[in-house]
Amino acid sequence: MAAHSNAVHGGRRRHVLLFPLPYQGHINPMFRLAGLLHAHGFAITVFHTHFNAPDTARHPDYRFVPVPDGSPVPVAIEDVVAQILELGVACESAFRDRLASILDEYSRDDVACLVADTHLLPIFEVAARLSVPTLALRTGSAACCASFLAYPMLFEKGYLPVQGMQSQRDMPVVDLPPYRVRDLPVIGEDDGGLVRELLSRAMTAVKTSSGLILNTFDALERRELDGLRRDLGVPVFDIGPLHKLSPAVDSSLLLPDRSCLEWLDAFPPESVLYVSFGSVACMSPRDLVETAWGIAGSGVPFLWVVRPGMVSGSADDHRLPEGFEAAMRKRGKVVAWAPQEEVLRHRAVGGFWTHCGWNSTLESVCEGVPMLCRPYFGDQMGNARYVEHVWRVGLEVGGDLERGRVEAAIRRLMTDEEGAEMRARACELKKAAAECTGEGGSSRLAIDKLITHLTLP
Ligand code: UDP
Repeated sequence: MAAHSNAVHGGRRRHVLLFPLPYQGHINPMFRLAGLLHAHGFAITVFHTHFNAPDTARHPDYRFVPVPDGSPVPVAIEDVVAQILELGVACESAFRDRLASILDEYSRDDVACLVADTHLLPIFEVAARLSVPTLALRTGSAACCASFLAYPMLFEKGYLPVQGMQSQRDMPVVDLPPYRVRDLPVIGEDDGGLVRELLSRAMTAVKTSSGLILNTFDALERRELDGLRRDLGVPVFDIGPLHKLSPAVDSSLLLPDRSCLEWLDAFPPESVLYVSFGSVACMSPRDLVETAWGIAGSGVPFLWVVRPGMVSGSADDHRLPEGFEAAMRKRGKVVAWAPQEEVLRHRAVGGFWTHCGWNSTLESVCEGVPMLCRPYFGDQMGNARYVEHVWRVGLEVGGDLERGRVEAAIRRLMTDEEGAEMRARACELKKAAAECTGEGGSSRLAIDKLITHLTLP
């Protein structure tokens, strides 16, 4: 990719400053964006917390600026929202000092912009006080962003808070189709207070920025993108899927076990089920056991990521049933972390049992891999709704996890005609993604607009 001439100013490269939210699903798209902007000629400076800090040695072309963060530690899902809110506040004053000294060091005209995660409102506020223009990166879908915007209305109209009644949970949200109440972004037993605060801050960050960057593409979410453009009042750059548009970037916090790629080579095309619930979701020891026996009973070959800390209430991750791994050796492999994009690209993979984090969903869509959806929290329920109901490239495994139901769901996806139809539709989406990211495609045009936006005086 040729360096964009506008990224050079007075003979000097212009700088883009970035501040990711320090969780894997937020770090990956921010680093992909960094790669994209760097390839267009911008110098990259990454502010980061000590918590989940990037491995700077893997990115020798970037400058890294650590920001003290109040020393958070990994917490349970129910506490992640509070942690995110605290993180931004804890970084605020140290970030102000570091940004001020960067502005002294770089000529101010050479700083094109600060791109920060929408969940870091205090960072946006500091930038505004120091007259640094900002762009907001939202790492979820356009539909999810629309649900964030609609959150106050959802309370006014009584859809939220969720009271726990099944009838309420199944109710369609007529103001926000295709969501039902159960698909809205809620976390744990929160009555809406903390999540409401988080989402309201995220939308303030967007509305006070010079634009919103979304890791999605037009063919996937045209209606939702049109809605956001109408409702937000700032430019929206749909420049996804970023992992297909940016040079390969290794921003993984855990070391992937690459032996699984060779292991996959031994299997026929589209025969293996890949199972992974992302970097944060946890399951109970009971659900782990039911999942294990359900996968075993399906008879389908599988590659399963059992991440350290994935089983709630246990420091010991190996709660897999006694003898399970040995019994499954011929047709199953368990790893602690996988090179997921490459796994999904492997011809042997025919299905993905996922928690429906947005990155995982996009990565699956881009490889034409249909999904079994088991959402846990946040935007995952909404993503699963789109997978099953809108794009029709997967099905949800809802209710209590029970081995018989798991078995049946896996067979529906991997061996039934229904699964073949989902795979065919997923292949159509893969083609649509390739068109959007190809020459003259919508995401390429959006990147051009973003670069122009960044280089406006
Ligand atoms: N991932 C990975 N290896 C794994 C599991 C996940 O590289 O074994 C990556 C995956 O490719 C994705 C990210 O971690 O880019 C997870 O982001 P997502 O939004 O799907 O879920 P989250 O972890 O935020 O819940």
